[in-house]
Amino acid sequence: MAMDCSLPNAMDTNWKRRFRQRLLNWYARHKRDLPWRRSKNPYRVWLSEVMLQQTQVETVKPYFKRFIKAFPTVKKLAAANEQEVLRLWEGLGYYRRARQLHAAAQQVVAEFGGRFPEDVAALQSLPGIGRYTAGAIASIAFDRRAPILEANTIRLFARLLAYRDDPMKAAGQRLLWHAAEQVLPRKGIAPFNQALMELGSLVCVPANPRCEECPVAALCQTNELGLQDAIPKSGRKVKFTDVSEAAVVVRKNGSVLLRQCAEGERWAGLWDFPRFAIESEGSLFVRGELIAKVQQQTGVVIQPGGLLKTIKHGVTRYRITLDCYEATFASGRVSSTKAEPVCWVPTPKLADLPLSTTGRKIAKLV
Ligand code: SF4
Repeated sequence: MAMDCSLPNAMDTNWKRRFRQRLLNWYARHKRDLPWRRSKNPYRVWLSEVMLQQTQVETVKPYFKRFIKAFPTVKKLAAANEQEVLRLWEGLGYYRRARQLHAAAQQVVAEFGGRFPEDVAALQSLPGIGRYTAGAIASIAFDRRAPILEANTIRLFARLLAYRDDPMKAAGQRLLWHAAEQVLPRKGIAPFNQALMELGSLVCVPANPRCEECPVAALCQTNELGLQDAIPKSGRKVKFTDVSEAAVVVRKNGSVLLRQCAEGERWAGLWDFPRFAIESEGSLFVRGELIAKVQQQTGVVIQPGGLLKTIKHGVTRYRITLDCYEATFASGRVSSTKAEPVCWVPTPKLADLPLSTTGRKIAKLV
């Protein structure tokens, strides 16, 4: 396929040879002993790559160990209940990843007999597996000659090439994927790709890269030009929106009222206390809105009580102020559907259900 981008002349055969040699020597001395690196099992590689998307290594470690203990094989994961999967994922965020992981495991079993396909195109046919994750599994687990490009290597390649435009735009992505492919050695792809990510993660860090310790500093155009602060160019700044929400802990005979978040909602598949945006001001009006909205969401009429706690948290571009209220059951029956289940849950059972991030905080209070 013809490329509509070209690499700078500096990245010639001699440059690539020196780059590979220095990078691999450095990796042999500095690679971290991470739980998912102890085996080339594609299931473990895949699981770790999905968990590491948008999440720090140290946060992922205990989750990875718990997950592997509960679901040691892709078949065990495929056979699990989605609620168990979400409960183990709880706290890692981006819950869509967990649901896609579960769906992909079922597809691996149904379509590939429980064995991961080895090539990038077949891997990309699985839910939640994009070009990067497919490249990581194919190269790390099967030593296929597949390039990878993720946050760490985008930054690394952008700096090596002194790419001054936004690397997340289409032209930048084309150039950097091309660079990631061109730089691959003929064999030993698994350690090479892992070394690239490790260098980006430990040395070519976002702020104040450690150029004085960098094994490829002499091959880096950004270092030569002294443009470390300007490259990579960051995209548009996120504009935050302030939102006021209310959550209500409705009690009845030692149980609390919960609803499962529906498809398309922020925490789809997880359980939460009745929760909604609040538009009124003044305690009397808020009280009326709590009664109306809880009834609308659950079918239950409540007697509102006091404010339990205010929780401030952020989700994507929203800065949310969540007022958590107490309430008691007054009348009515839960209106539960298959798509939006609602039920009374005895408080000791809250520990077993996958809850939204703030749902878990409220559960600890009750
Ligand atoms: S020399 Fe500095 S900017 Fe260049 S790759 Fe190394 S750490 Fe990154």
